[in-house]
Amino acid sequence: MKVALAYGSNLGNRSENITLAVDKLKENGLGNICCSKHVVSKPVDCPQGSGDFLNGALTGEWQGSCRELLDLCQKIEGEVGRSKVREINSPRPIDLDILLFGEEMFAEEDLKVPHERMLQRGFVMGPLAEVAADWIIPGEDSTVGQYFKGMK
Ligand code: AMP
Repeated sequence: MKVALAYGSNLGNRSENITLAVDKLKENGLGNICCSKHVVSKPVDCPQGSGDFLNGALTGEWQGSCRELLDLCQKIEGEVGRSKVREINSPRPIDLDILLFGEEMFAEEDLKVPHERMLQRGFVMGPLAEVAADWIIPGEDSTVGQYFKGMK
């Protein structure tokens, strides 16, 4: 299945954290990874004093289920140093979100795909448009590229 993920880091060596997380995705079975450039974004809805984020998006090929991919993302978030008990949106070495999972949609309590907030976030849609411009967003009438153009 073709999948798209978003990643972000605003703690520690941000680009190193992202590289480490992407390497771990690869080691754990995500194939054919294609990463966007990183963009710097201001923290949104984060506690005071939170640092700027480095954000990006990637596409890859995943053989398992969407839930298995979510489990892997959460395992990697833990390994790259994010503690489970923390203030909402507090600074984190790595945040991994599933944006798209082929044409599939999930509306479970802890798994919403397409990702709930992706369409409101330029720092997600910009990098995603770089690596997945022609992907039709499930539930929308437009591709990622068309949607991002309309945001500007
Ligand atoms: P965050 O703190 O932004 O990483 O949010 C993590 C929470 O969002 C976890 O409890 C996940 O189960 C939930 N979640 C819901 N949909 C998704 C998704 N598409 N990708 C990653 N996490 C998700």
